[in-house]
Amino acid sequence: QYFGPYPFASYGHIVVPMDGVSLETQSMTLIDAGVVARGLEYVVVHELAHQWFGDSVSPASWADIWLNEGFAVYASWLWDEAQSPERMIGQLEATERQAWQADSGEPLADPSAGNLFGFNSYIKGAWVLRMLRGEIGDEAFFDTLRAYHERFKGGVASSADFQAVAEEVSGQKLDWFFEQWVYGQLMPNLTVNWEQQSNGDLQVQVCQRQDNLFIFDLPLAVVGDDAQHGGETIKVDEIEEQFIMPAGFAVIQMQVDPNQALLAEVEVNQVEVFVPCR
Ligand SMILES: [Zn+2]
Repeated sequence: QYFGPYPFASYGHIVVPMDGVSLETQSMTLIDAGVVARGLEYVVVHELAHQWFGDSVSPASWADIWLNEGFAVYASWLWDEAQSPERMIGQLEATERQAWQADSGEPLADPSAGNLFGFNSYIKGAWVLRMLRGEIGDEAFFDTLRAYHERFKGGVASSADFQAVAEEVSGQKLDWFFEQWVYGQLMPNLTVNWEQQSNGDLQVQVCQRQDNLFIFDLPLAVVGDDAQHGGETIKVDEIEEQFIMPAGFAVIQMQVDPNQALLAEVEVNQVEVFVPCR
């Protein structure tokens, strides 16, 4: 449904004890016996997804390994999302923290040899797909996955090939997206400071703490003490942003990116005095 027709004639599993490692051998996945014993569905989904992304379309070079692992992790997130969107959000929050802590600081599309199968290739890769979906929308995103597989099945593809398909299908220029998330380093490290003014408006300051500038949409939700909800999504494209956000009630909490649309480390502070970010 999401990836297009299964690319091979048959599919099966060989279950053997492999110390926690499973491998997407073409059309007959090697599954570690522990996966079956512990009911780890996500591993089965991950290895199945590799039949499309990894086996049918292989990476043009080792630098493109995220096109295997990020896609397979993302497939397991789609599985989770179909079962429980709420649980999915909770898991994303956990992976976001892990991705931040484990970030190698290397570009996604150029990991060093020791990090080929590191956290970035898997988790940051999957996050990049999630954010691309947010950027171009569900329809263009899944059309992109199917078109990418259709065009490169039985062969190899690079990050540039994937970008070209995404641009063609969505009709959008995505250089800025791939530059910062795929070819660039790091991920956003944000501090969001806010204060409610006497007229009820919220003054909000967003600081980007990482070295390289990122451009993104940042959803902000506010909650009042009578469970009132409000919020808006703001465009961030500077190291420091200040803006005013109207609120019709006394705000007690600000939630930044509550639905996990953006891969970022975020600190939120209610402040009385604003100081420059740097
Ligand atoms: Zn894998």
